[in-house]
Amino acid sequence: MRARPDACPGAWRRHEAADGALARFRPVGGATGAAELRLLAAAADTGPLELTSRGSWQVRGLSGQGADDLADDLSRVGGDAPLLDDLGRDVPCSVVASPRSPAVDAAARAIADALRGRTDVPGRLLIAVDDGSGDVLGLDADVTVVLGGVLHLAGEPTDRTGDPAALALAAIEAFLAVRCDAWRVAEVGADRVREAVTGWYRSPGERYQPVTADADPVLDADPVLEVLPRLGEVSRDAAGVLADLVDEGATLRVTPWRTVVLRDAPADARARLDGLVETGPSPWSTLSACVGAPRCAKAHTDVRGDLTRAIARGQAGGLLPAHWVGCERACGTPAGPVAVVEGTPSGVYRTVVRAGRVSR
Ligand code: SF4
Repeated sequence: MRARPDACPGAWRRHEAADGALARFRPVGGATGAAELRLLAAAADTGPLELTSRGSWQVRGLSGQGADDLADDLSRVGGDAPLLDDLGRDVPCSVVASPRSPAVDAAARAIADALRGRTDVPGRLLIAVDDGSGDVLGLDADVTVVLGGVLHLAGEPTDRTGDPAALALAAIEAFLAVRCDAWRVAEVGADRVREAVTGWYRSPGERYQPVTADADPVLDADPVLEVLPRLGEVSRDAAGVLADLVDEGATLRVTPWRTVVLRDAPADARARLDGLVETGPSPWSTLSACVGAPRCAKAHTDVRGDLTRAIARGQAGGLLPAHWVGCERACGTPAGPVAVVEGTPSGVYRTVVRAGRVSR
């Protein structure tokens, strides 16, 4: 059990870093509109806009007033799945979804809209809506619903089936009912949460909705383009091109793999993004890094600069995912097998191969 509430930043709750306030925005299933992208990129004027490993946008180096203004501006954008709604409410935890399939959009929206503005939902909670392809199922989210399939809790399948949104919300309510101070389903045990799933979801309006019939999985057959911003860093130029492509009819989804998926993109989209993001096979595809110096005061070195130089020398980028960090805290270490390349006070990096996630 945790002895303190989580400190995950959001649109209104910022993390004070060495380079100023850090605000985080959680897109609903990765959905980001052109106007939102332009506002985020314009606000990130001290560095690139960032994608996180939970498919969130992150803006660094903000002043308190600048962060408030950004949130206010975003709340005026509107749309089906806004980062902030017109009441200024963001989604308190990450709701990720299979990025290639429109079939998951409605469920992701229903889940996110029911959670907006809630203060009893830990920011560490991860909700996933899978289209049946298994892509986000593999994230071992706290709550995963698979279209036409079963509810998964902390990566374990259960015997609960039903309407994906209603089922996810029932599971979230069940977790909140038994969690005490826990942030994650695994901390209280998936079985305890499963037993508390009643099959009914109590909406904020006190209206009860039954869990209904299974939905059929519908996989998206449309062509998609997936591109990789290096280390999740989206430059203002890249954001501008992406926003233009959305204006021209593409649907944009950011993913928990720090990539950007464009559905129904114009034929020349790849060419327009070349040089701004990785558009083909790339050594960057298996690499991640913490922010490092100078933006983190604890860092022993400029991690991202060191990594860039190592790639240029052909010394980084391979089949095994590698995560470069500036100190022993190893922030952002991804789940699964990974080589953690850690900067040390002596200026030398040491590498530790890990079999799975380390809780920090
Ligand atoms: S791993 Fe260390 S250097 Fe990197 S962000 Fe975390 S605290 Fe900072």
